[in-house]
Amino acid sequence: MSTFDQLHRFLFSKANVRGELVRLNESLNHIVHSYEYPVQIQRLLSEMAAATSLLTATLKFEGEIGLQIQSKGPVSYAVINATHNQTLRGVARWDESLPSLPEAFSDLLKEAVLVITITPEEGERYQGVVALDKPSLAECLEAYFEQSEQLATQIRLMTDLQQVENTKAAGILIQVLPTSAEATDKANTGEFEHIGTLTETLTEEEMFNLPVDDILYRLYHQEEVEVYPAQSVTFSCSCSRERSAEALKNVEKAELLSIIAEEGAIKMNCQYCHAEYRFDSIDVEAIHSGNHVASTTNQ
Ligand SMILES: [Zn+2]
Repeated sequence: MSTFDQLHRFLFSKANVRGELVRLNESLNHIVHSYEYPVQIQRLLSEMAAATSLLTATLKFEGEIGLQIQSKGPVSYAVINATHNQTLRGVARWDESLPSLPEAFSDLLKEAVLVITITPEEGERYQGVVALDKPSLAECLEAYFEQSEQLATQIRLMTDLQQVENTKAAGILIQVLPTSAEATDKANTGEFEHIGTLTETLTEEEMFNLPVDDILYRLYHQEEVEVYPAQSVTFSCSCSRERSAEALKNVEKAELLSIIAEEGAIKMNCQYCHAEYRFDSIDVEAIHSGNHVASTTNQ
């Protein structure tokens, strides 16, 4: 049985350190193969998806996390959104006029920042910005945790792009427990470093081929580890006809009607899942008079 598309959490009960391991396959393929992305973009989105899943598990409330890269390099924009229910979606934009893209993370992105947006279902939105000035996404995220939360964190991200249309990504995170951060700073740095050293020994071969129990045993059999039930990770898009209609409220009615006169309908395509929502003149009248739009979907 595959244990991909699952997030696993564990706790080093004696060390005030927690861990997470995620492996993505089917959920990821919906994202990285929804466009003709060059392999470099597939890799970037794969790492971002694994990272976002790991970060979502750090949420202390119900809501969403968005990881968004903005850059002046060949990749202008890449985003992965996730919810506390471990649903993922994502999209990227790059300079399609380039004959080929560079391989290295730092060459793909120039003057780049990572914007981390945390949106609780109730309460205020939080946004953190990290400069993407390190050689890998994992290192940039480690720096983010050190700076914004003063939590020693180790993240490893791996991708397997060998099979066509069957991309895999994985990530492992260990982090000192937030409740004991100050105490941990002083007392448990040694334990965190020790667990970090063990985590470093995990190979890609093991990550993508062994059952999760075997991985955890192989890495941490000398530690006391409490493993929690796994959580499924799925691809899911939050777009809807209602949300698309909402966006049309900001466009002049006359302009919408002239598009309909020319093209027969307003067609709105979701950039994440490619769902198409169509609106005719009756819909436009309803939208601009503040009425509900009939909720038939056109996929
Ligand atoms: Zn969608």
